[in-house]
Amino acid sequence: MYSVNSSSTPIDRLAKQHEIPTRCNCGQAVSRFTSKTVKNPGRLFHCCPMGSEKDKTHLFKWTDKSVLEEIEDSRTCLTCCLLTILRFKNQWEVVRP
Ligand SMILES: [Zn+2]
Repeated sequence: MYSVNSSSTPIDRLAKQHEIPTRCNCGQAVSRFTSKTVKNPGRLFHCCPMGSEKDKTHLFKWTDKSVLEEIEDSRTCLTCCLLTILRFKNQWEVVRP
């Protein structure tokens, strides 16, 4: 069970990784690079200056995965906004004479 008073729970850390990353856990700002490997030529990725794809200590994340997560989060947010608008519209129609 996570402590409510903890400033950074595992869920918080997971949520922070679920987007286009800006900073590694080590504190370094991450930058975007272009892969030059045979396996992933031209594929964009965000990486800590101290890290690499195989180094799990520092941040490494493919940009296409980050962008897909951002789109999915935006769709979820949009759905919530539409539901809120519909709820207010229904309430307005109930109170209107
Ligand atoms: Zn790092």
